[in-house]
Amino acid sequence: MQEEQKQRIIKALEERGAKLPCPRCGNQRFSLLNGYFNQTIQTELKGISIGGPSVPSIVLACTKCGYLSQHALGTLGLLSKDGDQK
Ligand SMILES: [Zn+2]
Repeated sequence: MQEEQKQRIIKALEERGAKLPCPRCGNQRFSLLNGYFNQTIQTELKGISIGGPSVPSIVLACTKCGYLSQHALGTLGLLSKDGDQK
């Protein structure tokens, strides 16, 4: 992930008011993981489907307790139609 992309993510989170402290320990500081989670949506409980719909997300880690919070790139307005980050 390039620095410009990271700055766009941070700006989008700030614009949406995602500034509250860690829900687990109250720490105010998070680090942005240098990559994405792209969890697949499972439509059945039996077995695991790979390659279906997914939720491209960025991940913040609390610097004190390690709590992970995910934010969907699409909701942040940062997902292009071809699935890349804007
Ligand atoms: Zn924490």
